[in-house]
Amino acid sequence: MKYEKVTELFIDGKRQGSSSGEIRNVLHPADGHLVATFHEGGAADTVSAIDAARKTFDGTHWPSFSDEQRGKILEQVAEILERDKELFAQAESEDTAKRIVEARYDIDDVISVFRYFAKLANKPHEREVDPGRENVRSTMTTEPIGVVAMITPWNYPLLQASWKMAPAIATGCTFVIKPSELTPTTTSMMMDVFTEAGLPAGVANLVLGAGAVAGGPLSTHPGVDMVSFTGSLATGKRLMINSAETVKRVALELGGKNPNIIFADADLDAAIDNALTAVFLHSGQVCSSGARLLVEKKVHDQVVDEIARRAELIRLGGSHDEEAETGALISAAHRDKVERYVADALAEGAVLRAGGKRPEGSQFANGFFYRPTVLDNCTTEMTCVQDESFGPILTVETFETEEEAIKLGNDTIFGLAGAVWTSDSEKAQRMARRLRHGTIWINDYHPYVAQAEWGGFKQSGNGRELGEAGLAEYQEHKHIWQNLAPAPSEWFTPTKGQVNV
Ligand code: NAD
Repeated sequence: MKYEKVTELFIDGKRQGSSSGEIRNVLHPADGHLVATFHEGGAADTVSAIDAARKTFDGTHWPSFSDEQRGKILEQVAEILERDKELFAQAESEDTAKRIVEARYDIDDVISVFRYFAKLANKPHEREVDPGRENVRSTMTTEPIGVVAMITPWNYPLLQASWKMAPAIATGCTFVIKPSELTPTTTSMMMDVFTEAGLPAGVANLVLGAGAVAGGPLSTHPGVDMVSFTGSLATGKRLMINSAETVKRVALELGGKNPNIIFADADLDAAIDNALTAVFLHSGQVCSSGARLLVEKKVHDQVVDEIARRAELIRLGGSHDEEAETGALISAAHRDKVERYVADALAEGAVLRAGGKRPEGSQFANGFFYRPTVLDNCTTEMTCVQDESFGPILTVETFETEEEAIKLGNDTIFGLAGAVWTSDSEKAQRMARRLRHGTIWINDYHPYVAQAEWGGFKQSGNGRELGEAGLAEYQEHKHIWQNLAPAPSEWFTPTKGQVNV
């Protein structure tokens, strides 16, 4: 299939320009070359898209398509993505500056997500309930929640979108999606995939543009039943407030400040090597990144010396640099934020053990690169330990006991993910159950599967994506009570001779 490079919005099954006629260029974060050009949507375009999604949900047969029909469409989407995988990986890598190998893994994951929800679409969604009396049929059934507004970030553009679009299609919802204005290409390409897969017009609608402008109506418009958002804590709070007026369901996947806990009895070679991947993968622009190292005091020097030494050796480069191990940050503004974060941490008393600067060399001059950075001597009170940097920065704290490790690991407003490294399996299980985060890895970091729910405790969000709960997010539950032998209830019984007053 040929995917357009100058891309319009997609509303009611048709490409269309934005009402303002404005254009936005997307530039490659590693070298600044022009990647693609997009029509810049505004609030009026978003309202048109919501209207199309509403009309399709309320006025067409889409919500009553059989589970099998919806499952087949999702399977077909996965087939097309398999066929065009390289095109999608190239586009994802260009928008985000992630290495092409990483982008290929992302698209593989996207395909798995569509396959998983294709199967889940066929999960029975009715059950008979014991009503506790005779001559009554009591049925619980699920229905699609309706029109869903989806708002996604720039770090895993299509993957985060797939966690929303696949279950929404599986349940029979319609939706309007607004990808990040920095990385819209692959989400836009998906609209063509949906058309080819036979998804009816008006089910999937795409708006493009800046957050509060194009995104504004998504959380305020009464035609939207649910907002599903992945992004920063600040935006998530704003969307929750905006959605309150029309009592929308709000599902939030927000930030994290994830503890990676290394005990002295761990396999230290594995723990050190994985600590690097935990935090520096995709230059730390990962919501579940292991940006907060908690290390048992007696192995602090051994562990931190080696992590710092290896962080200095990490090779940076562009998407197609085969030598590169990680890439650029997404934008100049984001790199500025990361630099401020390091400066503030040093002012607070952190000790710089690696990085802390931009890389040298002309090949980095037009990109937003920043060296993998290790900050030692940190304590929980420091802003750098509490705030999410979303960059290649590791803060290091120490502990002496299991209790202290749990207390530190939970001492954060976030609760997305964390890891425990130890050879004591019972201790690991105890820790896993007491750490208040949505995912805990034991002697591992980063893996996830579509069958297992993903999401955060505390201010990392609410609701869950993936797994069966990730499907239920997009459903309403309805109770149907059928009296098979109707009779007067005789609750209000006039006494003989009583007249109306
Ligand atoms: P962001 O909040 O700045 O933007 C996310 C999206 O929201 C973008 O599409 C943006 O245009 C839109 N937006 C911004 N303001 C809006 C408004 N007022 N109304 C409607 N839409 C609006 O976040 P980001 O910088 O793109 O992404 C990084 C953040 O995402 C990090 O905090 C990261 O932890 C989080 N994240 C979380 C997960 C998870 O699974 N929990 C996954 C990936 C990223």
